[in-house]
Amino acid sequence: MNRDQTDFLQGGGEMGSLIRAYNWADSPIGDPEQWDAALKSMVSMMLSTHFPILICWGTEYIQLYNDAFRPINGTNKHPQALGGSAKDTYAEIWDTIGPMFKKVRTGETYGFPNFIVPLNRNGYIEQCYFDFSYSPVKSSKGIAEGVLVICKETTTQVKAINSISEAKAELDFAIEAAELGTWDLNPLTQKFIGNDRLKSWFGLTADSEIDLSKATDVIAEEDRQRVLDAIEKAMDYESGGYYSIEYHIINPNNDQVRLVRAKGKALFNENKQVTRFSGTLQDITGEHTALSEAKDSNHRLALALEQARLSKMTAKMGTFDMDLKLGTLEWDERCRVLFGISHHNTVSYENDFLPGLHPDDRERVSNYIKDVYNKEKTNGDYDIEYRTVGAEDGQVRWVKAQGKAYFDAEAKPTRFIGSVLDITEQKHDELRKNDFIGMVSHELKTPLTSLKAYMQLLPLKIHDVGVAKTIITKVESQIRKMSTLINGFLDVSRLESGKISLEMSRFFLSGLIDEMIADFEMLMATHQIIHHPCPAFEVKADRDKLGSVITNLIGNAIKYSPSGSKIEISCEKEGNMATVKIKDEGIGIKKEDTQRLFERFFRADNKNAKTISGFGIGLYLSAEIVKRHHGTIKVDSSPNQGSTFIFSIPVG
Ligand code: ADP
Repeated sequence: MNRDQTDFLQGGGEMGSLIRAYNWADSPIGDPEQWDAALKSMVSMMLSTHFPILICWGTEYIQLYNDAFRPINGTNKHPQALGGSAKDTYAEIWDTIGPMFKKVRTGETYGFPNFIVPLNRNGYIEQCYFDFSYSPVKSSKGIAEGVLVICKETTTQVKAINSISEAKAELDFAIEAAELGTWDLNPLTQKFIGNDRLKSWFGLTADSEIDLSKATDVIAEEDRQRVLDAIEKAMDYESGGYYSIEYHIINPNNDQVRLVRAKGKALFNENKQVTRFSGTLQDITGEHTALSEAKDSNHRLALALEQARLSKMTAKMGTFDMDLKLGTLEWDERCRVLFGISHHNTVSYENDFLPGLHPDDRERVSNYIKDVYNKEKTNGDYDIEYRTVGAEDGQVRWVKAQGKAYFDAEAKPTRFIGSVLDITEQKHDELRKNDFIGMVSHELKTPLTSLKAYMQLLPLKIHDVGVAKTIITKVESQIRKMSTLINGFLDVSRLESGKISLEMSRFFLSGLIDEMIADFEMLMATHQIIHHPCPAFEVKADRDKLGSVITNLIGNAIKYSPSGSKIEISCEKEGNMATVKIKDEGIGIKKEDTQRLFERFFRADNKNAKTISGFGIGLYLSAEIVKRHHGTIKVDSSPNQGSTFIFSIPVG
């Protein structure tokens, strides 16, 4: 090769050397010295350029390329590509580029950014991207003999962009899935970009950039300053740029209130100046509502307990609160009383509750509580009655306990709260009622049996007038006994169903007392009835019912005192009140029983009165009648010292 003739092949690094060393004489484009001037100058330019260039010459597209282009051919296509046909080198994409090359040879030009081509340049197919242009190289005869390929591989950039878009798609997906609002603030302009969700929460327009103040205006007034302070702090380099806050927003379009949790991060430049501040917003209204509902139900329970505490029937109600996670138990004062303890030390389920239960109830109660902790079985509802045996006083008390166990998301019980009520009285009442029914049956059966016997006897003795008369008197007496008994019960039931009404009239109290005493004196002569004369004054009252009170008190005085003893009856008027006293010398009453005498079915436990029949309703009825007259009734008594029953009513 003549050096002067091939000066245009100077330089060009590795490719320059390869081109110079190539045996072009055997190639379709021949010896370089013979090349068309246009090809020569193009190759010369190519070798001196740092931009990737490929020249494909002639109908076979014989290739020449420079160092910058060389990596595009990888290890598979280089160095064979040099001097070879582009048709062979790029066989895998020839379908795409072949037609373009052909057109370029007719004068057309092509140019595409990021054009994708699947190249097999390193032994496998790669998705490669190029910014390229194909343009014709005209020979000195003016014919487009060559194709000039100037290109730049953009695979790395495109892949980077793609992976960013993938990451962004993933992020968008996460944002969507978490239903997050997003924001990105430009601290310089104080404008931000938000996603559609955020804009709809804040009732903002679809503008691409929004003034920060438009968003902060939507923040609930009581939260606003706190949020502004937090934003300012996050944008201060010293704070580390972190931002995390919860606040309320009120959508100005529909007044919808949302509680949101904002989290963000500010970015700073090397001068510690904030360049960007972005983050997410989460709607936690529901979360908060669930939490406050849980808090609320505890709160409601506390309120209910407080109300119950205040109501008069629950003067004896106590409360308990067990934290099942910590294993702690809290008893209030009343609860402690119900378990018979006076100290204020810590109590526990194992050491105080279980041992405090009556041995006969312990197993039943502990099994019941196990069920309460089983959400599926009981939903935590607790309602049971049991007995306690006072730890310090040994007293047996009846307790009605009610409450609820609360569970976590895994249905594990976390808290057990409730109330305990002293129902000892009701329980005793129930027992007394049962005794009462037993007694009533017995008491009614006795006169009935006698009646039956007399009625069987009567036909046999009908001719003996004397005996017949006695039998009839006895029958009458038994019938009176029964009707008194039955009337008493009827009075109780009338009283309790609110059907007893007073029929008020004006009468002399002394007259009524005289009448009642006369009745007794006629029927029984076992006791000395001393009637202190009553001053004459009128009262306005229900005469019959007041009469039954006096009868009952005199009757009791006779019943509960020995034959022959004195019964004194007196009455007086003091101011507006009329007072009647009935005093006996009988068995008396223990101090602790004196208040309870007036309760329904109550009968004092007195060994001297064991054989005296009664139902414990006489004093109850008397007290109720006196009460309805706006009066009072009481007893002064001590065992074996006799009793004095005193009642007073307003005169009218
Ligand atoms: P009952 O006499 O039918 O049992 P009451 O209601 O009249 O019912 O009396 C209730 C209880 O009060 C009696 O069971 C008795 O224990 C006591 N009691 C009533 N009056 C007297 C009295 N005068 N002396 C002693 N105990 C009395």
